[in-house]
Amino acid sequence: MSNTPSKERVFNFNAGPAVLPLEAVEEIREGFMNFGGMSVLEISHRGKEFKAVLDETTALVRELMGVPEGYHVLFMQGGASQQFAMVPMNLMDKGADYVSTGTWAKKAISEAKFFGSPATVYSSQETKFNRCPRPDEVKATPGASYLHVTSNNTIEGTQYRAFPDAGSVPLVADMSSDILSCPVDVSRFGMIYAGAQKNVGPAGVTIVVIRDDLAKKSCREIPAIFRYSTHAENASLYNTPPVFPIYATMMTLRWLKKQGGVKAMAKRNGEKAKLIYDALDASSFYKSPVERESRSLMNIVFTLPSDELTEKFVAGAKERGMVGLKGHRSVGGIRSSVYNAFPIEGARALVDYMKEFERTAP
Ligand SMILES: *Cc1c(COP(=O)(O)O)cnc(C)c1O
Repeated sequence: MSNTPSKERVFNFNAGPAVLPLEAVEEIREGFMNFGGMSVLEISHRGKEFKAVLDETTALVRELMGVPEGYHVLFMQGGASQQFAMVPMNLMDKGADYVSTGTWAKKAISEAKFFGSPATVYSSQETKFNRCPRPDEVKATPGASYLHVTSNNTIEGTQYRAFPDAGSVPLVADMSSDILSCPVDVSRFGMIYAGAQKNVGPAGVTIVVIRDDLAKKSCREIPAIFRYSTHAENASLYNTPPVFPIYATMMTLRWLKKQGGVKAMAKRNGEKAKLIYDALDASSFYKSPVERESRSLMNIVFTLPSDELTEKFVAGAKERGMVGLKGHRSVGGIRSSVYNAFPIEGARALVDYMKEFERTAP
């Protein structure tokens, strides 16, 4: 990865789809042009060539996440948003618990309402979603079908430091924006899902890690395509899977493994985030709306004194080869997304620019 932005390669702070490792993108280009005499876009999903891709991608997810025996790794479509509906459709019988920590968590709750009465057992809405709960602040309802959490809140810039202990209630997590960014004990979860386009690949594939008993469970009569059991029994080949996004994900995971896996990522991500948070803490011009203990290492949000200055900041950053810094339209401000593949040089460049902008601001 080039250390400075160039005409070809900017520092990409987009929240998703987002930066991928240049090395992986170059590998993808190879397969794009020639994968056994044709483009990888043209291969059959039933052929042995794709089987090898699917097997390797599955093995890499298992190895890198440390998925224990007794779990399926599935590749699905429809994004994390489809999982918002599929989780309650398949798994919620009497009722389920949800932790409401932001826009995506709320969307998950509103989809669950189509299938019963989800309970919001914790919400940080009153403080504008500036935090995630500590484990002692969340109690699962005895007999609930599951407890749903959003591990990293992409829009609000918050992240769990420790997950609640749900006891015998299965913990279900939307990890779309921090999957594979740090070590996670998968055995504590009944299910983990993530759209690939934030931290592991391009848009078009969703990774689902689901415990056998939950994959088998389907508490209502629903079409085959929406049942986890269908996808588990057919090893993600019930219908045509997203061949190209899976291939691209495999290349990113190969890169991740070469870097030293999730432990190495956690270290790098910690260093990048520290640079930016230290700059925020040292300034009274920039403000972080997020509680210190809930700061996300993936999406770092901050505000400037006015909307006008914010716009100027974004425009000036673009001139310096830093793109994607505008905060989500629902919250405004700045959001710097610094996923696994984002280089530390980009974090340094942002911090230098922040200091210069503050010095010269009117
Ligand atoms: C982006 C995002 C989603 C939505 O993902 P889609 O793939 O667009 O459906 C859901 N949850 C979180 C935490 C996200 O960051």
